[in-house]
Amino acid sequence: MQRSVDASTYRHDGRPTGPRPVFQSMLRGALLKCPNCGIGALFHRYLKVSDDCPHCREALHHHRADDAPTYFTIVIVGHVVVSLVLAVEMAYRPPLWLHAALWLPLTVILAIVVLAPVKGSLVALQWALLMHGFDPDAKEEIGDRLAPPAA
Ligand SMILES: [Zn+2]
Repeated sequence: MQRSVDASTYRHDGRPTGPRPVFQSMLRGALLKCPNCGIGALFHRYLKVSDDCPHCREALHHHRADDAPTYFTIVIVGHVVVSLVLAVEMAYRPPLWLHAALWLPLTVILAIVVLAPVKGSLVALQWALLMHGFDPDAKEEIGDRLAPPAA
């Protein structure tokens, strides 16, 4: 994929796609907003991506986030919680019951808080890079198969 320097003429394989800056799109997704306009809600429930943006009508149902948000959330939350566990253990050596009482709820709460922004970022990244059905030339997918070409 090649993109020109001029933001008004972003191109994908030589075709203009409209501006799709990756960082801005991912930031909008992390804020749970549409990667295209930054105003409409990306999700219509906790982790359910809207079929299209309620503000600009950009199609969002093409995303294939699958398990990636959970993997990234595990990495992020794991680094935070394990670092805190080690720091507290080294500094205070609390009993194991206190460790369990602290870190288990913190892990669950952090995972719930982090998962939606991570999924929003990944959906926005797919949108910005024209992955899957976000590519205007992509064939519509039916399950694991590609749909036959329209007659
Ligand atoms: Zn929008």
